[in-house]
Amino acid sequence: MRIYADNAATTKMSRAAIDTMLSCMEGNYGNPSSLYVLGQQAKESLERAREEVAAAINAQAAEIYFTSGGSEADNQAIRSAAGLGKKQGKMHIISTAFEHHAVLHTLKKLEDEGFEITLLDVHEDGLVRAAELEAAIREDTCLVTVMFANNEIGTVQPVREIGAICRAHGVLFHTDAVQAVGHLPIDVQADNIDLLSASAHKFHGPKGTGFLYARKGIRLLNLIEGGAQERGKRAGTENVAAALAMAVALREAVADMAENDRHMSAMRDRLIEGLKVIPHSALNGDPKKRLPGNVNFCFEGIEGESLLLMLDDRGICASSGSACTSGSLDPSHVLLAIGRVHDVAHGSLRLTIGEGITEKEIDYIIDNVREVVEYLRSISPVWRDLVSGKSQFIL
Ligand SMILES: *Cc1c(COP(=O)(O)O)cnc(C)c1O
Repeated sequence: MRIYADNAATTKMSRAAIDTMLSCMEGNYGNPSSLYVLGQQAKESLERAREEVAAAINAQAAEIYFTSGGSEADNQAIRSAAGLGKKQGKMHIISTAFEHHAVLHTLKKLEDEGFEITLLDVHEDGLVRAAELEAAIREDTCLVTVMFANNEIGTVQPVREIGAICRAHGVLFHTDAVQAVGHLPIDVQADNIDLLSASAHKFHGPKGTGFLYARKGIRLLNLIEGGAQERGKRAGTENVAAALAMAVALREAVADMAENDRHMSAMRDRLIEGLKVIPHSALNGDPKKRLPGNVNFCFEGIEGESLLLMLDDRGICASSGSACTSGSLDPSHVLLAIGRVHDVAHGSLRLTIGEGITEKEIDYIIDNVREVVEYLRSISPVWRDLVSGKSQFIL
C-alpha cells in the first residue's frame, strides 16, 4: 500500500493533463513567435490556455502572465508593486510572518534595498486579523501581500476582507494563492485582488509552470529580459505544452471543486479526530478555516523527521515542518509564527490528502501514526524526562 499524503508539496498530474501535454509535444511543437501555420497553431493554443486560466479566477486573458511557477510569480508580483511604490515615494510593505519563502526572501531583499516591512501577527489559529491589517496601513504603504492559504498549516485567510481594505486605502494587494487555486473558489473581482500567484503542480498540472494574474493597468517589472513574449513582461520561448496542461488541470479542478471539497473535508475531519486522541498532541491552525486536504499536528517528545521516515517505511508519504532533511535544523517558521516553541515545533507532521483518498486509507494512516508516535516516544530520552517530571509538558 502507498498513500500519497503530501499534496501540498506537489500533486500527481491528472490523466487529462498528461495526455494534453504529450499530444502537444508530439504535434504542436512550433514556436508561438513563428509566422508559419505550425507556429501560429502553437500561438493559438497558448492563447486558449490563457483564456481558460483567466476564466477560472474571473480575470481577463490579458491579465494572465505565464511563469515558471509560484516562486517566479511571487517574485515578479512583489518586485513590480515595490517598483511602482518606490516611484511614488512609498516604501512600506505589509505581509505576514508565515508566508512562503518565495515571498519572505523577496521581502528581505527589498528591506536591504531600503523598504520597510511590517509582518502581521497570524495568532495561534494561523489567521490574519483584518482590523490589525487596516491599522498597519500607512501613508507610504505600497503593497499588502498575504497568502490565500498557508502551505504548512492550511489556514485560509480572510482574503476578500483584506482586499476590500486595501482597495479602500488605495494599496495594491497581492496574494500567493498557490495552495488555493483549484482548491477554493477564487474570484479576483469580488475578492479585490490586484496580483495573484499560482502554480500548476499544486493542482495536478505539470511542475515548472504557473501564472501571475496582474489586474489591468498594473505595470509589471521584468525579472527576465529578452524577447517580447508574454506582452514583453517575461522573455523566453513559451512552454506551450505545460501551459495547455495547466489549463486542462485547472478546468478539471474547478469543475470538481465542490465535490472534492465535500469529500476531502470529511476525510480531513476524520483524520483530525483520529489523531487528536494521541496524548500531548495538538492540531496546528484553525480546525475549520483550513484547506480541505490539510492536517498538521505537533506531537510532544518526538522528532518529526523520525516520524516521517518511519511512516515512509509503512507506505505513507507525509511531511514534517522541521527541516533537518533539507539541511537545516531550524524548525518551521510557520509553526514558530503561530507560537509553537522550538521543541514542540520539531515534532510536527503534515498530512495533505488528495481527492481520491478513501476512509480505509485514512484509518490506515491513523493506526500507523498512533503506533509510530508511541514507539518513538518509548525510545525518546526527551519523552522519558517529560514522563518522569524532570521537564514540563507543554502540550
Ligand atoms: C509551492 C508553493 C510555492 C512555490 O511554487 P513553485 O511553483 O514550486 O515555485 C509558493 N507558495 C506557496 C504557498 C506554495 O505552496
